[in-house]
Parts: sequence; C-alpha cells; structure tokens
Amino acid sequence: MNPSLATLKDRLAMMTDLNLTGSILNWDQATMMPEGGSEQRGRQMATLSKLSHELLVSKETGDLIQELTPWAEQQPMENIEAAFVREARRQRDLEVNVPSSLNSEMSEHYSRMYTAWTIARPKDDFSSLKPLLEKSVELSKRFSDCFKNMDHPMDALIQYADFGVTVKSAKQLFSDLRSQLVPLVKRVASAKQIDSSCLIGDFEETAQLEFCKTVARQIGYDFNRGRMDLSAHPFMTRLSGGDIRITTRAIRSDITDCLFSVIHEVGHALYEFGINPLLDGNILAGGVSSGVHESQSRLWENRVGRGKPFWDYFYPILQKSFPHFEKVSQTHFIRAINKVEPGFIRVDADELTYNLHVMIRFDLECQLLEGKLAVRDLPDAWNERYKSDLGVTVPNMKNGCLQDVHWFGGRLGGAFQGYTIGNILSAQFYDTASHKLPNMEQDFIRGDFSKLKSWLNTNLHHWGASISPDALIQLSTRQDLSIKPYMTYLTEKYSRLYGL
Ligand code: ZN
Repeated sequence: MNPSLATLKDRLAMMTDLNLTGSILNWDQATMMPEGGSEQRGRQMATLSKLSHELLVSKETGDLIQELTPWAEQQPMENIEAAFVREARRQRDLEVNVPSSLNSEMSEHYSRMYTAWTIARPKDDFSSLKPLLEKSVELSKRFSDCFKNMDHPMDALIQYADFGVTVKSAKQLFSDLRSQLVPLVKRVASAKQIDSSCLIGDFEETAQLEFCKTVARQIGYDFNRGRMDLSAHPFMTRLSGGDIRITTRAIRSDITDCLFSVIHEVGHALYEFGINPLLDGNILAGGVSSGVHESQSRLWENRVGRGKPFWDYFYPILQKSFPHFEKVSQTHFIRAINKVEPGFIRVDADELTYNLHVMIRFDLECQLLEGKLAVRDLPDAWNERYKSDLGVTVPNMKNGCLQDVHWFGGRLGGAFQGYTIGNILSAQFYDTASHKLPNMEQDFIRGDFSKLKSWLNTNLHHWGASISPDALIQLSTRQDLSIKPYMTYLTEKYSRLYGL
C-alpha cells in the first residue's frame, strides 16, 4: 500500500475509534448512567469530540488527502481505497470550517441538555429548557456561520446528515408530496373508521420484550453481535461491525409501541450488519445518509412489519404470548395496526400522517434558524401547526414541542428531513427488491426473511458510505429519488383498507 495512504488510514482509524468511544458513552448515558453522571459525561464527550476533530482538520491529515486526491479521482467508483480518500476529503472539507472550541462547546451543551430534557419533559416543564434551547439555536447559527456559500442557515446542518440535500430541494420535495398526501388523508378521514381498540390491553413488559426479541431474531438481528436495552427514546448504535445495539421501551397498555420500535431499529441495525466487513473501523463503515438509513428502518417497520405475509407467520406466535389476542381475528388486527388517525405524537403516527409531522418540525426549525421564530413562541407555533395541518389539539408540551429528542440531544436543525426522504426511498427499494425476488412475500409467510435481507445487503448495505446517496439510489433502483412509488403504494394500500 502507498505509505501516504497507510498513514492516512491510521490517522482516521484513530479518529473513528474516538468517535465510536463517544458512541459508547452516548449509549451508556441513554441506557445505564445515573442522572448524577451528566455533568462529567458532557465533559468527557466533549474531550473525545475535540480530539477527533483535531485529528481530522490537522495539517498532516490535510496534506495526505491533498497528495492522494489526484490518484483517487482516477479510480473506479468501487475502489474502496479511493472511496476512503474521497470521503476523508469530504468530511475534512466540512470540519475544517468549524473551530474545535465550537465543537466542544456544542458537545458539552447537548449532553447537559439531554439530561435536562429527560427530567423536564415528564414534568411538562418548558421554561427550564427554554434557555438551553435558545443556546442550541445560537450554537446552530454559529455553526452555520462557519460555512460560506450556503443559501440557508440550515443547509450547513443538513449536509452532515443528508449530503446533497438543501432546504430548497427538501421544501420542493415536501410540497410535491404534500399536494398528493393531504387529499388522500382527507379521503381516508371521510371513510368509515377502523376500530383499533383491540390493540389496547394489559401486556406485561417482560413478555413484550421477549416477543420483540423473537421478531428481531427471526427477521435477521444477530444477538451475538448486538443487544437490546431500554431507553426513553429508541435508537440503534454501531460500536463496531461486531457490536450493533438497539434500544426500545415498553408501554404496558399498548403493545404496538415496543413492537414497531424494535422492528424499526432492527431495520437500522440490519443496514449496519450488512456493511462490507473490510470497511470496519474505517470512516466508510456506516450508513451513507440519514435518509437512506431511515429507508431501511421504515421498510422493515411498515412494508414488512405491517403487512399480511409477516403476520401470517407471527400472529399465531403473538396469540400464544398474549391470550388477549385469542379472540381477535388476524384480519382485524392487521386493519388495527394500519389505522390512519391524525395524532400529536410523531413516533406513533400512521404511515399517511407521519410525513406531516416531519414537515411541521422541518418548517419550525427553519424559522428558528432564520430568526423568524423565537424559542419562547415555539410552543404556540407548534400547537397552531398541529391544529391547521393535522386538525388536532396538542394537550401539553411533553406531547407537543418537547416530544422529540432531536432538539434536546444534538444540533438543532438538519435531521428531520431524513425521515421523509427515508419513507419515500423505502418504497423505491422495496418495490425494486420485490420485482427482483418475485416469491419474497411467500417466504415471509413461512417466517423466512432472508431473501429480502440479502438483496438489501448486496445492493445497498455492503457499500457503507463508499458511494454517494444519489449514486446508491441510482445503482440499486435504476431511478433517482422519486415520490411516485411511495404515493402509488400508499394510495393502493389505503384505498383497499378504507374501501375508497
Ligand atoms: Zn429511525
């Protein structure tokens, strides 16, 4: 290997180790750490973030990238060493704009704020979070100011999560989607409604977790290379190729919260498990964008996990675990888990209204960063949008603007667009896979999900971050990002379900 390439790989492997150690601290904070650890943990995470940032932006790293770039540019797309140099350059070009002191300040602030949020949210206490949120807006603006030639202050934040997407392109995509989605939601609202009361009961938490583990294992989650723990907000984290963890939560009265969270997080985990092992420990070992990552979780959660073939296999097992369902027909159960009902909680939203929740957040964070909305006015602005967009009255702040971890555990802005992009992509990927694998859903009935998993492994996952999101979408589906397959799927499914 070229000695400069070897040195660059060593340096960035060290940076990756620091980042992954930060992820362990983050996982620990969300699952195990006592409240008292918050202050010191924030400092520890800031230290790791500072060291990692310094390694990336250092002159030595820059010189190595500079030297290797002409070679990398001549290599074919599938050359992973060249992809590594390209990605190192992209990451460094971003990070070099941001002073190390700002990175540490942000890291420390977000860690402290996360703990404050876990305490304030159950008490519906917006006032104690208000100054912290104001600080977050200020930090996001300062962060954004580090970048030149950005049309919108949130563009700088978006490029970290969804490279190639801007506020302008996301707004266009959302408005196209909205123009087709809202009439469909209205048609469903005027149809005969589905009774989903069969989903409510008394479901012992340990039994829920056991059932969810069975589902996770069956669809391909490898417990020898992962574990499942409890946290306030479910998430997946990659600590290495051999240690990919998920978290969930269990609500005793409602079995669907835990179940669909687990299928969702397993979808994220299967992406990480499927990444080429040769990339492990490398900056390319991770999902390519939050939109593509979310497409994987939504694909498993909605296309697979809310479908009839999936329940043909799992429903008898569910009935055995929870006698509550013995008198509920499978048809009734499937209708209940697909019920459309505008609500005020994003993570509980049905497939049709989910994107409207995302658009509200996206618009509000844009306005906060544009200076058109003050933090003190956020609760009212939030509630007004819920009234106008979803027709619901938000009962309190914990189920209103305090509900999502995003604004309270990380950079404010630049994350929500990935959810809707993910929903749109999930249809493109699923349709392509089912076209290539005509018997795929027949296998689901027998509890065999391996064909879909390996198609995704081969066509999407194994690339990791070695090609751009746009190239990955084009390569695997022969299409660009398009709302057409998603809207066709939603229209057909909900027309059938509601007899439209
Ligand atoms: Zn997700």
